[in-house]
Amino acid sequence: MSHRDGPAGSRDRESTEPIRVGVVGAGAAGAAAAYALRDAGATVTIVEKSGGVCGRAATRRREGCRYDHGANYVKDDDELAASLIPELGTEGLVDIEEPVWTFDADGEVAEGHGDDGRKWTWSEGITQLAKRLLARTDAAVHRRTRVEAIDRAGGTWHLTDTDGADYGPFDVVLLTPPAPQTADLLGATDWDDDRLEPLIDAVDAVSYRTIRTLVLHYPFRESYPWYGLVNVDKDHAVGWLSREECKSGHVPDGESLLVVQMSPAWSEAHYDDPLDDAAAAAADHAADLLGDDRYRDPDWVDDQGWRYALPESGAETEPLRAVEAAGLYVAGDWVAGEGRVAAALRNGYEAGERIRGEQAGE
Ligand SMILES: Cc1cc2nc3c(=O)[nH]c(=O)nc-3n(C[C@H](O)[C@H](O)[C@H](O)COP(=O)(O)OP(=O)(O)OC[C@H]3O[C@@H](n4cnc5c(N)ncnc54)[C@H](O)[C@@H]3O)c2cc1C
Repeated sequence: MSHRDGPAGSRDRESTEPIRVGVVGAGAAGAAAAYALRDAGATVTIVEKSGGVCGRAATRRREGCRYDHGANYVKDDDELAASLIPELGTEGLVDIEEPVWTFDADGEVAEGHGDDGRKWTWSEGITQLAKRLLARTDAAVHRRTRVEAIDRAGGTWHLTDTDGADYGPFDVVLLTPPAPQTADLLGATDWDDDRLEPLIDAVDAVSYRTIRTLVLHYPFRESYPWYGLVNVDKDHAVGWLSREECKSGHVPDGESLLVVQMSPAWSEAHYDDPLDDAAAAAADHAADLLGDDRYRDPDWVDDQGWRYALPESGAETEPLRAVEAAGLYVAGDWVAGEGRVAAALRNGYEAGERIRGEQAGE
């Protein structure tokens, strides 16, 4: 098999050989790309810095509770998500029945429009999305492995992790971390090619909103006609508040667990505040919004800071596509231009299909 860059940096690979694909990140995009390649005769290696899969669609377990402390659910308003998710098995698939209502800067709660569509998670947590996708592939997944450098040698790609271990050679690499982390990786890429600089500029231009999630647990349960409350005028310290007990299998009977996502302005100002202080502020806001002082005093709390929570915009497409001929791909919510699990899923899947086309010599 020959591997060399052509005049324009394109690959020259005999298409009968299995294509070797290295994927950075096992979020919705990375997992969907591996899924799209599952029966393409490709060998797929995923390198993921966390201990688990599904990235910002994250689930934690504590004291008999399960909670999705990143993405709350996957909406079915994208055709791929709507068809693919049930195909992954309906056992444990949860459609959150209660609607999303709204509140304004004064904390005034109002009924939503009732046009939520389906809001999917799983009784075992939203991480089931990537787990189920990957279970249907032969991809090798290396967890707790952070890639810190990429290089191109002899027409193939190599990834190096923070311990200096080498992964590769790969015919194709697909980078799926949030744009600022992808820009860092591209900045640490040893590839002498005119297309790299415009690519880095395009990725660098994507900024993100920061969200600090506070998780508040209570030994009682109230009923409400809604699952979540979203701040519509973006002028409240709380951006989103939801009741994890509306997801079957997440919270034991008689208990409740609020997921409170603070606004980007609040989150940036209080990103490093001690957990107890941040949770007390979130609990006070929850008590005010729900008009019930019992919410001021959760019996346990948890949190997660998401520095790169949601992309503000998408990246310019042309510099991203220009490097694909050299076997360098990017995917994720920021490529799709929408901070949604379904958008990342589709974007990763479509990148996988383009790589698959490469395998077929199309
Ligand atoms: C608080 C919050 C609430 C949200 N709510 C919703 C919601 O309700 N509904 C919805 O649809 N979307 C929601 N989103 C957005 C949604 O989570 C994302 O759009 C989606 O999960 C992005 O998937 P991705 O695969 O593009 O990226 P990610 O999920 O970020 O996956 C990238 C992966 O790359 C890994 N990685 C990064 N750097 C490296 C490295 N150097 N080496 C190895 N691995 C690396 C990361 O660990 C991660 O697993 C929310 C996000 C947040 C943070």
